[in-house]
Amino acid sequence: QKALLKVNGLKQYFPIKGGIFGRTVNHVKAVDDVSFDVYEGETLSIVGESGCGKSTTGRAVLRLDEPTEGEVEFDGTNILELNKKEMNKFRKDMQIIFQDPYASINPRHTVRQILTEAMEIQNAVPKKDRNDRVKELMDTVGLGPHQADRHPHEFSGGQRQRIGIARALSVDPKLIIADEAVSALDVSIQAQVINLLKKLQREFGLTYLFISHDLGVVRHISDRIIVMYLGKVVEIADKKSLFTNNMHPYTKALLSAIPSTDLEVKKERITLKGDVPSPIDPPEGCRFHTRCPFATDICRTKVPELRNAEGMKGGHRAACHHMEAIRSGEHQPTVNA
Ligand code: SF4
Ligand code: MG
Repeated sequence: QKALLKVNGLKQYFPIKGGIFGRTVNHVKAVDDVSFDVYEGETLSIVGESGCGKSTTGRAVLRLDEPTEGEVEFDGTNILELNKKEMNKFRKDMQIIFQDPYASINPRHTVRQILTEAMEIQNAVPKKDRNDRVKELMDTVGLGPHQADRHPHEFSGGQRQRIGIARALSVDPKLIIADEAVSALDVSIQAQVINLLKKLQREFGLTYLFISHDLGVVRHISDRIIVMYLGKVVEIADKKSLFTNNMHPYTKALLSAIPSTDLEVKKERITLKGDVPSPIDPPEGCRFHTRCPFATDICRTKVPELRNAEGMKGGHRAACHHMEAIRSGEHQPTVNA
């Protein structure tokens, strides 16, 4: 399988200024050495609680915020080495959809203007064809072409997200990053938008990086899933393997929290205590150790590597010192959770 996007050793440290001279006194380590590939035509999801670095990862990949370190290879080119002009050529191939499409569009513009503007900026569609393209896009996302001359506020949340999707599609991208794209919508509307995204993926061969805090949502769209905690990848697996064969205690905790009567989902009911620690001074060793019911001494000092479980092959990897023993039942919770 061909990787359309390769992220290697990505770090995003935001400086914290302090003192009377406004010097950098510390850093928020929002993303700390994250690597993954996104294969052409797949949906790779990133899940985790707010503050785990998932959105920051998405933004860094697109260079909306310049990453501190690492490589981002898109379609064979390390885009972090490109100058602004060269980068602009790639912008049209990589689009992003946000939770609130309203936040990134001019509310005074009509949908037609919004869509046309995107085509203009990227010079993606010749002027004479733009009206036809608007019509086509409206149809593609399930909105009537006659609605193109209305304003965003005249649409419901779900329709507005369809407009956001149409805008992303208007420049004919290869990769779409969806950052909490359905999180603000009602469950039934969520399902509709997810079905639309799936349909568009089949039709146009799109690749998705789908970012969400909600494993329940992610389950309906993903081929593979990355779980992040405090700036680190803690587990990566194909969807089925993640739900039925999860290795990392944090993944298990996230799964415990989603309502499901589904036997396909392996759950051990791990309830998390406390809050996510600050990414300014993340815990030593395994960053999850302050909340992990399985933590032992080694967890407090040694950083666990992302690896296959012993005896397991393939792409399922997790970062936990005790994953084999937890799995076999040999290692029981060591602290009262
Ligand atoms: Fe828990 Fe230790 Fe595994 Fe981290 S390495 S998840 S603290 S058992
Ligand atoms: Mg976010």
